[in-house]
Amino acid sequence: MIIRVSDLDERGLTVDDRTALAFADPAWRLESVVLRVEPDGREVFVQGRVRAAVPQTCGRCAETFVTPVDVDVDVRLVPRPAVADDVELGADDLEVDFYEGDLLDLSRVVEAETTLALPMKPLCRPDCHGLCPVCGANRNLSPCACGAPSTDPRLAPLRDLAVRLPR
Ligand SMILES: [Zn+2]
Ligand SMILES: [Zn+2]
Repeated sequence: MIIRVSDLDERGLTVDDRTALAFADPAWRLESVVLRVEPDGREVFVQGRVRAAVPQTCGRCAETFVTPVDVDVDVRLVPRPAVADDVELGADDLEVDFYEGDLLDLSRVVEAETTLALPMKPLCRPDCHGLCPVCGANRNLSPCACGAPSTDPRLAPLRDLAVRLPR
């Protein structure tokens, strides 16, 4: 959904039709959206709530699962080009983003907010046992006979760390 900023009047706009918005990846589902779009000079404030369902791949067992996203949106959009010095950051909790020319792509705003709400390291469940490093079996489904080291989920973060560390 593209909004022409110069067409916004000061009463702003309410967007609550999720079909008006789309994610770039069709596997991402937008479940509901309520957004207020209000102009202030050349700046535009977008506030509201987005709920979505995003397929992700577990970082331990590589299974695909769906992460529910429920995010409060509170973004201030300023026209590009804007040099960083013109943007007062840190005065409040608002995020600052940019729009191009006179056009604000609300789908892109929703996508960016949804992306920010996704976990850095997706896990299908907090105690996912992951794949056996020996035979590759999914240890959530069946214990394998490799006698692989402890599957104690409390140690999983350490194993993940060991995998990430450079050798
Ligand atoms: Zn998993
Ligand atoms: Zn195994």
